Amino acid sequence: MKSKIIISEQEKQLIPAAFNMLKYSYSPYSNFKVGAALLSSTEKIFGGCNIEFFWGGGATVCAERTAIFKAVSEGEKSFSAICIVGGKNGDVQDFCSPCGICRQVLSEFCKPDFKIILASSLTDFKVFTLSDLLPESFSL
Ligand code: ZN
Repeated sequence: MKSKIIISEQEKQLIPAAFNMLKYSYSPYSNFKVGAALLSSTEKIFGGCNIEFFWGGGATVCAERTAIFKAVSEGEKSFSAICIVGGKNGDVQDFCSPCGICRQVLSEFCKPDFKIILASSLTDFKVFTLSDLLPESFSL
């Protein structure tokens, strides 16, 4: 699938980095593993995986937010792109789109043209901007 939004070579590196994060997913309840890789404006890549808890959704954290929280807790607050991959048992068959909470969290730190790369393989991906996936977002 070809995307209309061009990504740089550096942003393309997020795809294998996101796949690499699948092995860290802690998802014993859903067995749905998600990996994310986030590129900061200082050109560092922060990985993330989903982390589930048996008693429900309140404490479960998605891969995208894990990556954002890791980066922010290390002083990064500006980002250019994220790649997200996911699948049952870590077998990525389709595109894995960020949930509403993650979209809102991304909007806290990322500009409307922030790139969200959804990959179903190392070579098959599509690219959205944050404003594509969170139009008319809430802000103060
Ligand atoms: Zn999420």
